[in-house]
Amino acid sequence: MDLLRANLHKVRIPEPTNRIHKDECCVSFDTPRSEGGLYVDMNSFLGFGREHVAWNFEKSENPVYLHIVQRRKPEPDETDRPLKKPTLLAIGVEGGFGEQEPEYDVTYEIVILPEFVSLPFPSVDLPEKVRLAVDKVILAESADRKQQLASWVADKKIISAHAMDLQQLDNGVIVPPTGWKCSKCDKTENLWLNLTDGMILCGRWVWDGTGGNNHAVEHYQQTKYPLAVKLGTISADLEGADVYSYPEDDSVEDPILAQHLSHFGIDFSSLQKTEMTTAERELDHNTNFDWNRIQESGKDAEPLYGPGYTGLVNLGNSCYMASVMQVMFSTHPFISR
Ligand SMILES: [Zn+2]
Ligand SMILES: [Zn+2]
Repeated sequence: MDLLRANLHKVRIPEPTNRIHKDECCVSFDTPRSEGGLYVDMNSFLGFGREHVAWNFEKSENPVYLHIVQRRKPEPDETDRPLKKPTLLAIGVEGGFGEQEPEYDVTYEIVILPEFVSLPFPSVDLPEKVRLAVDKVILAESADRKQQLASWVADKKIISAHAMDLQQLDNGVIVPPTGWKCSKCDKTENLWLNLTDGMILCGRWVWDGTGGNNHAVEHYQQTKYPLAVKLGTISADLEGADVYSYPEDDSVEDPILAQHLSHFGIDFSSLQKTEMTTAERELDHNTNFDWNRIQESGKDAEPLYGPGYTGLVNLGNSCYMASVMQVMFSTHPFISR
């Protein structure tokens, strides 16, 4: 512990904008699942495999590392136990059919080079700075994910022509930090805050059944207020916030978003990210591409909601059952029996 205290000045607490390399070694293919695990430099936040961490120490003289090891959870022995029957018509969710991805246990420890002195984590004995720094590294979105997203949006995000001279109404609207709901329906997710009047409305209907009832875009069509930000994507890393421009019909950058948010009483640095941005959704849809899901794309389907219209959430391959149930429960001779 004294050794750690002596090296405390070499430990940094990551800022929200720092890239944290905790998925893969910078110079090899080692990951936390490799035999030696992965060592994250607590000063540069670069990751190194067991064979390269000493090399980094010599070069950088950074002695403090977070050692991350992921080990596959033992498979339950299926021969002497009755097979657990799926209780849900779904794949990869609790109670559903077996998951393809094996599960991993993650362990952490603090390691100090060059002697590879190991200290347990979590531990109340660790200096507060180290505990804070490690917590932030563990919770941070990894550099790999940020990089994937950055390359996905890189050629697309433009600075909105409507941002710098946006007129914000002095209507006294104050937006609370949590507990949002669409002003026109019951949606509590996929909500957009119009940056002109502070109105909170649900997002677009999406062909896969997610999304909202189009109330935000309809509000734009009536008012022509151009910019909205997706609630739940605002955090201290403000660049990650999802701002949409209706006239430009694209995700855009708002260089003075902090100012636009504070107009409605929002302190962006105190908010937590709870929702996926448009870019993250697009990335996920494209990396988990499923042809069956796009058969309605491109068609002008009319969004419907309310009794008899709202369908069941797709649990994965349950759409056929959901559609049959929806038809049956909309059939008068059936409901009246
Ligand atoms: Zn709505
Ligand atoms: Zn299906």
